[in-house]
Amino acid sequence: MICLESNHDIIMHIDMDYFFAACEELRHPELKGKAMAVGTSRFEDREKGVVQTCNYEARKFGVKSGMPTSMAFKLCKELEYLQSDEFYYEDVSGKIMEYLKSLGYKMEIMSIDEAALDLGEMPYEVAINVAKETKDAVRKKFGLPSTIGLSTGKNFAKMACDKAKPDGLIMVKTDEIKDFLKDMAVEKIPGVGPKTKEKLNRMKLSTIGDISRSNKMDLIAELGSFGSQLYNLSNGVDTSKIIDTNVILSISRERTMAASTSDINEIDPMIKKLVAEVMSDLGKKRYLFKTIGVKVRYEDFTEKIKSRNLHHYTDSEEILYSNSRNLISSLLYGKKARKIGVRVSDFNDIKKQKKLF
Ligand SMILES: [Mg+2]
Repeated sequence: MICLESNHDIIMHIDMDYFFAACEELRHPELKGKAMAVGTSRFEDREKGVVQTCNYEARKFGVKSGMPTSMAFKLCKELEYLQSDEFYYEDVSGKIMEYLKSLGYKMEIMSIDEAALDLGEMPYEVAINVAKETKDAVRKKFGLPSTIGLSTGKNFAKMACDKAKPDGLIMVKTDEIKDFLKDMAVEKIPGVGPKTKEKLNRMKLSTIGDISRSNKMDLIAELGSFGSQLYNLSNGVDTSKIIDTNVILSISRERTMAASTSDINEIDPMIKKLVAEVMSDLGKKRYLFKTIGVKVRYEDFTEKIKSRNLHHYTDSEEILYSNSRNLISSLLYGKKARKIGVRVSDFNDIKKQKKLF
């Protein structure tokens, strides 16, 4: 009889494809099918910033994340450009994460558009079906493409996912892991950046297979405990555990004002309104927060974001209001604000205790 059970928990790593750009395609459907990039600078200064994400149409021209936008426009003359909108992407991300969490597995949020779910021990076929259903549901509910990697181990699941991009689904079974890894470049291991890569290359280790055949003690001498981890991973051993994280990363509200103004007293009613809305959302979730952030968009469409970490968790509307007002006020410098935003983040996992009387 063939045993279908895997030896360890199956980890499902889901990563949204070209997330910021995909979010923009959602609200600008006219840009779909066109080469498009999301970057750091406002439209008027679009040649001065850096590309944060671009869609696959832009990638065909060689446009990449991290590239100066000036170079992107040289590579692709007809490139559509949008300034990134952090609040909006976080909002979309929050909804996706909430949905993924509702599937009922232990889940770790890895970044704004990546999460790892511990499916537990289950037959590979069942895990593949869970992944297919999840991918389809995310596409249907949010209109966004994603890629899923399945494997035993958080790192292997992520590497499988990277390999399957875009819009893919890959399962790497326990007995396939070493073969899957052996010819990959060392920098494909999560956490291996340019510096570690250089160190490894100096040790004449360029593939993961090379690391698996190297001396563990030499790796530890060179890289400390990460060296030991690299050795284990290269040999198909991934002991990392999913750390269940709070699903909601932030709650925010933003709105354009009826008239632009540099007078904090004129902005005040809008601050109160946004604070009340954030508090209402927060109350439904029964969270405490520790970080307050604000955003100001000026008349010239430039934006500034500022945040403050409190010493204690709180759910006080007064604290949120006074800090938001101070932060926004500090961002005005006599300039007229057109749109403002208020955000709370860094939530406490523990729901508020019931009062004892
Ligand atoms: Mg992604």
